[in-house]
Amino acid sequence: MSGQDPAPAELPERSPGTRRWLFADQLGPHFLDAPEQPVLLVESTDVFRRAPVHRRKAHLVLSALRHRAAELGGRAEVVRAGTYGEALAGVGEPVSVCDPTSWGARRLVRRLADAGAGGRRAPVHVLASRGFVVSEARFRHWARHRGPRRLLMEDFYRDVRRHHGLLLDGRGGPVGGSWNHDAANREPPPRSGRLDVPDPWWPVEDDVDAQVREDLDRLERSGVRFLGADGPRRFAVTRAEALAALEHFVQHRLEAFGAHEDAMLSRQPWMAHSLLSVPQNLGLLDPLEVARRAEEHGRAHRLRVASVEGFVRQVVGWRAWNWHLHWHLGEGYRESDALRAREPLPSWFTDLDDGAVAANCLAHVLRGVRQEGWVHHVPRLMVLGGWALQRGYRPAELADFFRRAFVDGHEWVMTTNVVGVSQHADGGVLATKPYTSGGAYVDRMSDFCGGCRYDPAVRVGERACPYSAGYWAFLHAQRERLAANPRMHQALRGLDRLGDLDAVLAQERARGAQPP
Ligand SMILES: Cc1cc2nc3c(=O)[nH]c(=O)nc-3n(C[C@H](O)[C@H](O)[C@H](O)COP(=O)(O)OP(=O)(O)OC[C@H]3O[C@@H](n4cnc5c(N)ncnc54)[C@H](O)[C@@H]3O)c2cc1C
Ligand code: SF4
Repeated sequence: MSGQDPAPAELPERSPGTRRWLFADQLGPHFLDAPEQPVLLVESTDVFRRAPVHRRKAHLVLSALRHRAAELGGRAEVVRAGTYGEALAGVGEPVSVCDPTSWGARRLVRRLADAGAGGRRAPVHVLASRGFVVSEARFRHWARHRGPRRLLMEDFYRDVRRHHGLLLDGRGGPVGGSWNHDAANREPPPRSGRLDVPDPWWPVEDDVDAQVREDLDRLERSGVRFLGADGPRRFAVTRAEALAALEHFVQHRLEAFGAHEDAMLSRQPWMAHSLLSVPQNLGLLDPLEVARRAEEHGRAHRLRVASVEGFVRQVVGWRAWNWHLHWHLGEGYRESDALRAREPLPSWFTDLDDGAVAANCLAHVLRGVRQEGWVHHVPRLMVLGGWALQRGYRPAELADFFRRAFVDGHEWVMTTNVVGVSQHADGGVLATKPYTSGGAYVDRMSDFCGGCRYDPAVRVGERACPYSAGYWAFLHAQRERLAANPRMHQALRGLDRLGDLDAVLAQERARGAQPP
């Protein structure tokens, strides 16, 4: 991905002379080509009738769309319609659209483009996608030139940093002497039980939010079911708010971001996380500007390099990697099921019924999702995802549920994170071993176990930790499929040494789909 590489453009990049159709995740200025370009915005609440989404997610999307419409004033034509197809049918002029973020939406815009080319409706011009640190064409070029070598996030991330000159020293090497500071960023929570960091930036709601809340109440009265609880808006929905949230984060919280990035505290769910996934995923912030701002502030104020690098890695590494792999792996990837996981998600899980759950970690995390539609990546990966993996929940169903339950959930980012990273359903394409653990990991990385009726060190009986017992039951069930993976050999040897395996298996079989 060096600066000299050609990056063949396969779709046109710009179309300043047409009305720009913006999807609800394309709301920032970088999705337009000219200052006065007219815009088409489509508001469809029918999507909420298909399957329940978190009420806070519905609020954020509608609020963002309506705020953008208000900002654009007379330049925006806002169409309220059941479907996008219906909305476009009424538009009598050529429109252009940046390639959208789901397989279904991509099919739709191409269908509309074909119909326009055939003269059956106004032309629709599909442009290359935007809002990611490297273009799809450049990624394909990069992937092709790797030949038979495995595609690795770490290689991609380093090339992105070189390509954009991010966090480099004067000689083109990494600032701080190392490309990867993960080892310094895996600290358990502070012994005091509190991370010393100012609160996140919080928005102030306005009339648009009040109207959205009323409309969502009306939808609920008409029979639409939402997940989770309503509450004050927590995330930025305008460009100005997004910039304020970014600025607050780099100035007050970035320094503390890295060291305890993976730790969980029951009374401090936000820790030092940025809360920028929502404004980035709405298209309000360009990830490159986010990374550059973090670097600039980090250099100017001599912040801990591991924190700045840890954050930049998330934004230009993991985020971009998931985006490109979503397309690279193809639409069928979401149905991957290498571990033959066939259990339907139980209703206590999909209802986010934390009250039904005694296991303190899982109850806490379900409550977080119910109340906020957000928990940070480790509760997603190790508590919710780890539980689902141990219990054999269907990966595609889990990805769909997470997409609806999280405020930042979108198909492009949820599928690879859930199906690949968290459920290992691709057999190791994205992660070299399954991410699940016994209670010892949760105990080390959180304060959950202290307040739990179970004991992470106990496998059988009244006090048996369901994660510890579930871990061994999972290894036993998957032994043959995991045996060829060298990274699992030690764990499987541990399984052989377990004297009480039969009792563990009987106990976990008896638990069935019950909440732990
Ligand atoms: C099972 C699972 C599901 C996830 N689903 C989503 C999702 O639907 N949408 C989503 O935006 N993130 C998802 N993530 C990634 C990550 O958990 C969230 O981006 C993060 O928790 C959002 O909070 P934050 O903005 O405070 O992030 P921070 O911890 O402050 O990280 C900074 C930024 O890095 C980016 N980022 C970090 N990790 C990832 C990742 N793995 N994939 C994509 N972006 C990443 C996000 O843009 C985030 O805002 C998922 C992770 C897991 C393990
Ligand atoms: S003991 Fe087990 S169930 Fe309880 S909080 Fe710890 S890991 Fe979770």
